[in-house]
Amino acid sequence: MLKGKFPTDKFKSLATPFYYYNIELLRETLNVIKAEAAKYNYHIHYAVKANANPRILSEIARSGLGADCVSGGEIQAAINAGFRPGAIVFAGVGKADWEIELGLDSDISCFNVESTAELEVICLTAAAKGKTAPVALRINPDIDPHTHAKITTGMKENKFGISQKQLGATLDRLAGMRNVRLTGIHFHLGSQITDLFSFQSLAIRASEIQDEFDRRGIFLENINFGGGLGIDYYHPNHLPVAAFENYFAAVGRLLRPRTGQQIHFEPGRSVVGQCGTLISKVLYVKEGDTKRFAVLDAGFTELIRPAMYDAYHRIENITSEGETGLYDVVGPICESSDVFGRDVELNLVRRGDLLALRSAGAYGEIMASQYNCRRLPASYFSDTI
Ligand SMILES: *Cc1c(COP(=O)(O)O)cnc(C)c1O
Repeated sequence: MLKGKFPTDKFKSLATPFYYYNIELLRETLNVIKAEAAKYNYHIHYAVKANANPRILSEIARSGLGADCVSGGEIQAAINAGFRPGAIVFAGVGKADWEIELGLDSDISCFNVESTAELEVICLTAAAKGKTAPVALRINPDIDPHTHAKITTGMKENKFGISQKQLGATLDRLAGMRNVRLTGIHFHLGSQITDLFSFQSLAIRASEIQDEFDRRGIFLENINFGGGLGIDYYHPNHLPVAAFENYFAAVGRLLRPRTGQQIHFEPGRSVVGQCGTLISKVLYVKEGDTKRFAVLDAGFTELIRPAMYDAYHRIENITSEGETGLYDVVGPICESSDVFGRDVELNLVRRGDLLALRSAGAYGEIMASQYNCRRLPASYFSDTI
């Protein structure tokens, strides 16, 4: 089996489970993003929620990307990591008062607003501070991105955004508000989208909506297409950098920015997904009646995606060349959903072997929990290990 290259000897002296990040791959990915975005003069904000490990964040900040945050904690983490507040946008359907205050006090570049109720609170809070809040309206485009239901956000039954039906009324309200300034519109379809046709549909929808703003005499300084580009979980060695060229082209071919208009994207998963790996030790090989289990010291407390989203992660035994067999790879958590994969083909597994759960850089470490009173996982980096 073709495996990823890992410093296995160094791993053997470390307590497991832990996250291992390939910094060279992260930098290569960032270089591709910047080069492809530059062709269209697109502005990129990294979606912090995919991975907020301080080292990863500071690498991304250093590369010059902005940050897309969905909480006050993320705004704080982004600023601590070196992102300029002027390059931070703030989305989220439930912004708390203190989070809005933090955004205003930090002078972030934009609040992506999801309802008229929120707009009013932002306006009042800004007024109390003698400020004007820059806002973009998050519009729910009602487009099916053909991904898992739990990571679909841009359909009308989802809680996110303002519907096109309510847009007119929202704009009427906005016109009377003194302490908010409309700077653009925002969309986000969902996550792990590999069907680029969805992004084309979004570009077409955005053009139509832009025409509506034209009719009202409103110029949109910013159009933000959100994130969602998927990665190849099945072949992490084959194409480790996501299809940014095709992704930007999907929008670029259909939407010509107006003079003075900025186009934004907010990729998360596609930036960090492939550079992270969860390394876990085999505690036991358990022979069941019909199944053979490899019981790991990592569980859904370290990587919840298989349990929560039925997600696939490629699993490799990086300390064995033995003949391959089929194993159900499971964790130690007292829940039947604590399964990383069923009938996984692995090189002969023995107690003490190290297994690599690939493509775990996004929505992995950041979603770790202490359920069962477990410790949060450590993290190591290819250039400092
Ligand atoms: C989650 C999210 C993103 C990032 O999505 P990915 O699928 O990780 O690229 C971008 N924008 C918003 C508003 C989000 O909620």
